[in-house]
Amino acid sequence: MSLKRVGVLGGGQLAAMMASAAEALGSSLVVQTPSFEKPAVAKADDVVIGAVDDAEVTAQLARRCDVITFENEFINLEGLMPLAKQGVCFRPSLENLAPLLDKYRQRCYLQELGLPVPRFTALEAGGEGKKLSSLAKEASWDFPVVVKARRHGYDGQGTLIFKDQQALSKTWEDLGCPAMLLEEFVPFERELAVIAARGATGEIAVYPVVETQQEDQVCHRVIAPAAISESVNSQIEAIAHTFLSQLQAVGVFGIELFLTPAGEVLVNEIAPRTHNSGHYTLDACETSQFEQQLRAVTGLPLGSPTLHCDGAVMVNLLGYEYAQHDYAAKREKLAQIPKAHLHWYGKTEPRPGRKLGHVTVLWEGQHSGAEAIADQISSLWYD
Ligand code: ADP
Repeated sequence: MSLKRVGVLGGGQLAAMMASAAEALGSSLVVQTPSFEKPAVAKADDVVIGAVDDAEVTAQLARRCDVITFENEFINLEGLMPLAKQGVCFRPSLENLAPLLDKYRQRCYLQELGLPVPRFTALEAGGEGKKLSSLAKEASWDFPVVVKARRHGYDGQGTLIFKDQQALSKTWEDLGCPAMLLEEFVPFERELAVIAARGATGEIAVYPVVETQQEDQVCHRVIAPAAISESVNSQIEAIAHTFLSQLQAVGVFGIELFLTPAGEVLVNEIAPRTHNSGHYTLDACETSQFEQQLRAVTGLPLGSPTLHCDGAVMVNLLGYEYAQHDYAAKREKLAQIPKAHLHWYGKTEPRPGRKLGHVTVLWEGQHSGAEAIADQISSLWYD
């Protein structure tokens, strides 16, 4: 049976892009979001206003939906448990989400599944400085090390890189010695990502592996497909299959990876939702990640994840100033690039670093022009 009315916890651009895919599938979308100004409000069929982690508001949402899914990790698992017990259908399920929302716990879970991850340990809350200094040493890692907030980090917020013990101790103490994830700095050759989906009957669809390019820990560009060897590609597909079949989750997942200079693949993080590295699928694949999420959670068969062109480059349009205008002239120029697809999220408060939209340019033939296209977009946007 297909569940037609889908609730989404969150009203950002990911929910908005899901809403655009809903009509063609005969689904309707209701979003739970804190304000009428969020990108998904104009696109959704209905809106429930309230904080995303307010479970009482989710109870109202549940009355209007057949199934509830997610667009971010600001999930109040404990608050939602009673609703699940009353029979509210969450996809992915709360059990699926439990090992994934806390970055340290997620690392432990991935390691238990036998998946390759960077070396890591927990910084316990309130641990004294001495213990902190011995942690990295015991693990015999060299500095730099990476420290991450265990929950609610996104776009690199909550991820800090330390070049020495002194800098690490000082910042951690200034933060009040919270519980955090401590891990080795991976001198990656490239960052890769893959979107993978599992349907209600257990079928799995894995999208092409892409290269992601971050600046200041924020994704700027995605190149699809990544220029990688067949062996790296198969390792990543195997990681996606192992993860989804072990977790038995229903929904779309974004898997972020490091490729080391020695050709080793490590899983950095898995997001239990659609992901920025999969935005190119809207214009370049037979089924977008947003349609796939709807197909999975409503119980429809999954669509094909195959590229319908030779490749694509996606560039995020990040805010670079506090602006009142809507960048109309720049958007027009970007839209004139051949085979460009411009997506504008309609956010009301552009500010530096905020994701305001993205452009995807498709290509046929050689891969070598991808960087040049991305450079062209960046110079039109940031000049
Ligand atoms: P978020 O969940 O906020 O996106 P991530 O853990 O993905 O945070 O980190 C953001 C970026 O920081 C990564 O894409 C990568 O460029 C860099 N980074 C994160 N962890 C490491 C690491 N262990 N070694 C090297 N770089 C890292």
